[in-house]
Amino acid sequence: MEGIRRAASKLHSLRVQNQEITIYSDNLSCIHALRGIHTNSRLAAETHSILQTVGSTNRLTVEWIPGHRGHYGNEIADRLAKEGCQRFFASAEPLLPIRESVVNAEILHWVEDLWQNRWHASHSCRQTKIWIPRVRIKSRSPALHLGRRDLRIIVGTITGHTAVKKYLHTVGISPDPFCVCGEVESAIHLIADCPIHVMNRLLHFQRAIISVEELFSLSYKRMLSYIMATGSLAEGLQQSA
Ligand SMILES: [Zn+2]
Repeated sequence: MEGIRRAASKLHSLRVQNQEITIYSDNLSCIHALRGIHTNSRLAAETHSILQTVGSTNRLTVEWIPGHRGHYGNEIADRLAKEGCQRFFASAEPLLPIRESVVNAEILHWVEDLWQNRWHASHSCRQTKIWIPRVRIKSRSPALHLGRRDLRIIVGTITGHTAVKKYLHTVGISPDPFCVCGEVESAIHLIADCPIHVMNRLLHFQRAIISVEELFSLSYKRMLSYIMATGSLAEGLQQSA
């Protein structure tokens, strides 16, 4: 679009009149935007206006041309655009317009990094960080596809704020934090390595013990079927749900 605007501006400043002029562009969306009467783009509106001015005293057309097909002018424009991208420029104005999608992707990337650093550096949510080590902006969590009851069970498991002895002891409901096996009964213990649930773990996850590093990769659907199958674990987690 900027190229068409500059070509038309140049013709206007040279006071070209009574000529047959064709401006070729390989950008079809630009040509479509120029054909539209109403546009939200200031650049498109400016380009449209200057084309009208030049067209009022010349026979002016804007035509689409396929890119990268060896057309003389198009090849020169591509080469100059490439050279322009590689140049360093210190001006406040960019030499070439930057696509909005590129700017948005950069902003998203920057925000995600900021969020990730904050998540990593915070001292709270230690259990949740084991299940969710990386934040995500764009991809929606698979937890959002779960029904209300299943979601509450998964959130309770991930945060550790559920009817397990460790949490119940912390809030003063249970006199001790211990599992029947003798270990501290956290949600992670019940899912990952409580010996009482080895058979169910083999059945649902195909392994007897799950390491802490593997927890984040477990699918929520499998976790739910395991929780339901483990009797006392399911009972405890469902009570809190
Ligand atoms: Zn146990």
